[in-house]
Amino acid sequence: MSRADRASGASASPRPPSIDRMANWPALAPLVARIGRPMVVEALRAWVEVKRGASDVADPDACARWCAERLAGLAEPSQRRVFNLTGTVLHTNLGRALLAEEAIEAAVAAMRSPTTLEYDLLDAGRGERDDHIAPWLCRLTGADAATAVNNNAGAVLLALNALAAGREVIVSRGELIEIGGAFRIPDIMARAGCRLVEVGTTNRTHLRDYANAIGPETAAIMKVHPSNYAVQGFTKAVSAAELVPLAREKGLPVIEDLGSGTLVDLETWGLPHEPTAREAIAAGIDVVSFSGDKLLGGPQAGLLVGRRSHIERIAKNPMKRALRLDKVRLAALEATLRLYADPERLARRLPTIRALARSAAEIQAQAERLLPPFTKALGADWTANLKQVRGQIGSGALPVDLLPSVALAVTGRGLDKLATAFRRLPIPVIGRIEDDTLLFDLRTLDDEPAFVAQLPQLMPSGPRAAGSPKAMRRTSELEARGPEEGTP
Ligand SMILES: *Cc1c(COP(=O)(O)O)cnc(C)c1O
Repeated sequence: MSRADRASGASASPRPPSIDRMANWPALAPLVARIGRPMVVEALRAWVEVKRGASDVADPDACARWCAERLAGLAEPSQRRVFNLTGTVLHTNLGRALLAEEAIEAAVAAMRSPTTLEYDLLDAGRGERDDHIAPWLCRLTGADAATAVNNNAGAVLLALNALAAGREVIVSRGELIEIGGAFRIPDIMARAGCRLVEVGTTNRTHLRDYANAIGPETAAIMKVHPSNYAVQGFTKAVSAAELVPLAREKGLPVIEDLGSGTLVDLETWGLPHEPTAREAIAAGIDVVSFSGDKLLGGPQAGLLVGRRSHIERIAKNPMKRALRLDKVRLAALEATLRLYADPERLARRLPTIRALARSAAEIQAQAERLLPPFTKALGADWTANLKQVRGQIGSGALPVDLLPSVALAVTGRGLDKLATAFRRLPIPVIGRIEDDTLLFDLRTLDDEPAFVAQLPQLMPSGPRAAGSPKAMRRTSELEARGPEEGTP
C-alpha cells in the first residue's frame, strides 16, 4: 500500500492515518489479539513519533513488524522457566526449592476455590490459619507449638520483636552473619527494636562470655547457624546443650535461627550432617526458626517452632499479621510437610531430596547419554567433554561440603557467546564458567527430554531469539557473578 503511495510521487513523506485507524489495520490484528489494543495503541504512538517524516510511516507491514518487536518482551511472562545447571541445587536467584507434585496440586486447588483457611467446619466458627501446619511441624520437630510467616527473615524479625523489643539480646560475634546483603543479624535486631549485645570474638566464644553479659536488661540469648560460611581452625562456639542450662538458670529464652533447618537427617542419603529442627528442640532451644524453601523443599515460608508460651506471644504480635502466609502457600506447605510422614516416599516425591540423593553413577549415566546430542548441537567451534565437578546445596546449607557430580564441560574460544546462546534457547539453560570451561552440572537436570529436544535450536552465532531483554540481562549478570552470591 505504501509502495503504491510512494510510487504516485505525491509526497516524500506520507501522513499516517489516525492511530485508531492504524490499530484496525489487518496486519496488526494478530498483535491486538495477543496482547490487547491499549498496548498496541501505545506502540503505534511511539511508531508515529519515531517515523515522523519517514517514507514507511504508513506501511502497515513495516509498522506491524516494528510494533511486534517493541512489544515482544511484554507478550511473554517476565519470569521464565529455566534449566538450573549451575551446580547449586537450592539457587536463591533461580527460586530455590521446586515443589513436590502433591504441593503443586494442593496450591492449585486452593487458588481455584474458597477454602477453610480460617474457618472451622464443625461449629461454623473461626479457625486459625496456623492449625493447618502446626500439628505437622510439632510432630516433625518434637516442639509443642508452631507458627508460620512469609519467610525466615520475617520469622527472626517477628520472634525478636515479640520476645525482646526494647531490651537486650546476646549474640556471639562468630554468629553475626550477613546472608546475601539484605539480611544481616545486627540490622534485623535493630529493626526488631532490640539492643544487640555482642559477646566473644569472631573465632572463639565461651560460655562465660554469655554469662558475663547477662544483666537486668537481657531479654533473650540468640544463636544463629552460620549458614554461608564456616569458621575453621582455632575455634570455639557454645553449643545449645551448654547454653540452655545457663539460660534456664537466668530465666531467659534461647532463640535459634537455623537457616536451612532440615526436618530429616541428611545422612540417610549419604550427605553430611546438617542440624535438624528436632535436634535444636531436643537440646532445649525455646524458639527455633527456619526457611520453608531451603532444605525443607516447600514454598517460601518462615517456620517458628518451640515452647507454647513463646509461640503464643509471637502469634499475637501485630507483626505476625503483616507477615502472614496466604492460603496458597499454606496449602503447599501442608502438602509438603505431609510427605515427611514417610521418609521412603519423601525421597521419591520431594524434588530437593531427589536431587541431593542422586548418585554420582546415575548422573554419570545421564551425562554419557547426553554427550552425543550435546556435542552435535555445539558444532565444530567448541569441544565438549564430561567432567567430574563439585556442586553445592546452596541457600546457606553445608557451605564447605560439596556435592560430587558430573557436568557437560565445554572448552573453546568465545565461551561467553556460547553461554549466551544457551540462555536464548526456548527454555534458557543456565550453567557456570569456571577455569575457562563452561559447565552444565547435571545433578539438577530432571526434564532430560525437554533439554535434548531444544538442543538443535542452539545457534551460538545465529540470530537473536525472541525473549524478554530484561530476563536476558538478569541471567547474564547471574552467570557473571557465579552460581550464587550468599543467600539473598
Ligand atoms: C537463609 C537464611 C535466612 C533467611 O531466610 P529466608 O527464608 O530467605 O528469609 C536467615 N537466617 C539464616 C541463618 C539463613 O540461612
